[in-house]
Amino acid sequence: MMAGSHIALGMAAWMAAAPHLGQPPLAPGAMALAALGGLLPDIDHPKSWVGRRVRPVSDILAALLGHRGVTHSLLAVVGCWLLLRHQAVPVAWAAPIIIGYLSHLGADLLTPGGLRLAWPLRGTWALPLCRTGSAFEPLVVALLIAAAWASLPQRPDPRTLAERWGLCFTCEALPLPPPAPPRPPRRRLAAQSTDGSQALADARQGGLEGRSHSTMPG
Ligand SMILES: [Zn+2]
Repeated sequence: MMAGSHIALGMAAWMAAAPHLGQPPLAPGAMALAALGGLLPDIDHPKSWVGRRVRPVSDILAALLGHRGVTHSLLAVVGCWLLLRHQAVPVAWAAPIIIGYLSHLGADLLTPGGLRLAWPLRGTWALPLCRTGSAFEPLVVALLIAAAWASLPQRPDPRTLAERWGLCFTCEALPLPPPAPPRPPRRRLAAQSTDGSQALADARQGGLEGRSHSTMPG
């Protein structure tokens, strides 16, 4: 899949997994780490987003191990598990990176190229739902994001999130419909109408008296 899809799916995977790990699912720092984890496996490809940024390393990995080699295998999954289990890195940092990493493997599994899960053996596993860069890829990504969002136990107001992440500068210009104002109790309405009718009667009475005074001969 494309780098943008891996970023989105890394964040979506963290949204779905974080509540099960006792972590806040929408913390911006954790989401950024999950996005980074979603890009890391392609460090073995010199032309990938992360491969271009660590060029000597990605060149060496590609030459020695090839793309979608050990970084996309069950060995990498075991490495992730060991990292989390031995707490070499604080869980709050390691967990989102690992979930993002695993989301990358899951996403690549959906492409025809598949994964060599049993690396260094040659067999390839795939569930070829969409080709990398095809028009179908954004649809699959959108569906998975929607599923992750729907899995959240408490879904916050998306405008608040957009503001917190700096994605929305005009949120206040697009407010949700305001809640309906509470209806006054019936008794108060009745009292108001009574007062109103009383005031009207007083005004009429005053007007009549005034008129009678003005029409009386002096
Ligand atoms: Zn990959």
